[in-house]
Amino acid sequence: MPLAYDDQNIFARILRGEIPNNTVAETEFTLAFNDISAQAPVHVLVVPKGAYTCHDDFMANASDEEILDFTRLTARIIADKGLSPGQGGEGYRVIGNAGRDGVQEVPHYHLHILGGRPLGRMLEKG
Ligand code: 5GP
Repeated sequence: MPLAYDDQNIFARILRGEIPNNTVAETEFTLAFNDISAQAPVHVLVVPKGAYTCHDDFMANASDEEILDFTRLTARIIADKGLSPGQGGEGYRVIGNAGRDGVQEVPHYHLHILGGRPLGRMLEKG
């Protein structure tokens, strides 16, 4: 049973145009915008337009078209930002937080694309 979707979350409000955002890219199914509190020179949030709470909800319940659009747009932004190691970039990290242990602040599925500086190890030992 997926977590109930809260349609008052901040990304739902951004998607409805109630709150402005700094758009990086937009397609029929996906919106990408700069994080308001950037942790790196590149910090883009990639957000499906549908009402999904987290990665497993999106992958289980979104259409193939939505998933393909989301994943391809994420890759396109990485390439456009010059981060791809296969194209001379210095690399990047893609993060998806979920739930309490994942410390997910906004309960609408999104990926973070981070790059533009060395990002350190993935996790500190807890
Ligand atoms: P999470 O912890 O849910 O994976 O990350 C949520 C992210 O959304 C945080 O990095 C936070 O800075 C960002 N964020 C929160 N509110 C806003 C907002 O109103 N606009 C934008 N652009 N980013 C936001």
